[in-house]
Amino acid sequence: MISVEDALTTIVSQIRILGTERVSLNDALGRVLAEDVYAPYNIPPLDNSAMDGYAVKYADIAGATPDAPASLEVTGDLPAGYTADHPVFPGKALRIMTGAPVPEGADTVIRQEDTRVEGSTVHILVEVPQGTNIRKAGEDVRQGSLLFETGTRLRPAHMGILASIQRAVLSVYQRPRVAILSTGDELVDIDQELSPGKIVNSNTYSLAALVRDSGGTPITLGVARDTKEALKERLLEGLHTDIILSSGGVSVGDYDFVKDVLQDLGLEMKFWKVSMRPGQPLAFGIIGGKPTFGLPGNPVSVMVSFEQFVRPAMRKMAGHRDLYRATITAQAEDAVNGGIGKKYFIRCKVTNRGGSYFVTTTGAQGSGILMSMAEANGLMIIPDDQEAVQSGDMVQVQMLDPEFGFTDKASY
Ligand code: AMP
Ligand code: MG
Repeated sequence: MISVEDALTTIVSQIRILGTERVSLNDALGRVLAEDVYAPYNIPPLDNSAMDGYAVKYADIAGATPDAPASLEVTGDLPAGYTADHPVFPGKALRIMTGAPVPEGADTVIRQEDTRVEGSTVHILVEVPQGTNIRKAGEDVRQGSLLFETGTRLRPAHMGILASIQRAVLSVYQRPRVAILSTGDELVDIDQELSPGKIVNSNTYSLAALVRDSGGTPITLGVARDTKEALKERLLEGLHTDIILSSGGVSVGDYDFVKDVLQDLGLEMKFWKVSMRPGQPLAFGIIGGKPTFGLPGNPVSVMVSFEQFVRPAMRKMAGHRDLYRATITAQAEDAVNGGIGKKYFIRCKVTNRGGSYFVTTTGAQGSGILMSMAEANGLMIIPDDQEAVQSGDMVQVQMLDPEFGFTDKASY
């Protein structure tokens, strides 16, 4: 049996980054950049006003107070979108709107609230430091600078910057296409009638959601009966994708044919069985260059295995640099049993109280109890060499909550 760490290293080393494609800016949200993006020009392009007010020379307003204002003649009006047709002369001012380029001769903008107007004269009521209320050319984006590196996942703010440098089309990595096959004579689908002995195929739905959540495109192959012929037929349909996932039939039962069938299809098996719980029965190998995962059948095991192994593989394929869920340190509020020689992943709920993390389990940890996964925001890790966690112990928790993000190193 292989350790979680070795299994992960083996998988990640087998994954190649997918090709690139060009998408329009509107379709780029959530995609991963496959190019370094440089700034073709300064943003803002010119020094401009941060306020509605008056463009002046600092020397003309130095010492101004409400009782002794600096009184300047207003020689023109400068809305946003236009440049001045004359400079600010000594003793004069130009009316200026937010975003309008600062005219030659001016070095300071006085906001309207600090002035009083009388005919064509503006009385400046305060002194402000030289340069106040001027946004400098290039203060947001400097011409020629590297803005976003290959591997950046595009978020809404990136969209704004890319628009402002007129990048209508971008090169991004392709999304992994992931085949999903469920196996088992006991399974009926969500629109089929249940009869005694049957259960609903839920794994296809949780896996398809995990694939989407990881930035991929699920290609569902339905349910294969527990015969070699049925499995082979369905798996063949998945071979044109980037990753193949099956669930169930990979353990040591009499009808667990997935491994055999994958090998018949040419699987180069890298390992079978990982020393972890849940999720021990897991086969990984390569068929015709395609990473192939025989995931366990239990509804919790399949999700935990996906999180440990499939998500990092998909992230690598899709060009991400940070492949692994982040972990935090939290104080356990329950005693939890693990076991020597296996890594335990305990469904748990982390709360932040007064700046510290506390963690409780979300209930019974049987690998068929999916409700405790639905209520969890993390997986508490009990290391291979630790028997149990006592209430009050500090533990590592792998956070499933997206706001905790990803890192470049798996830590357990
Ligand atoms: P197996 O490894 O095929 O023996 O499956 C282990 C357990 O997971 C059994 O109780 C199966 O009924 C259950 N199981 C397998 N596949 C699915 C599925 N697609 N949806 C829900 N439960 C499943
Ligand atoms: Mg089965």
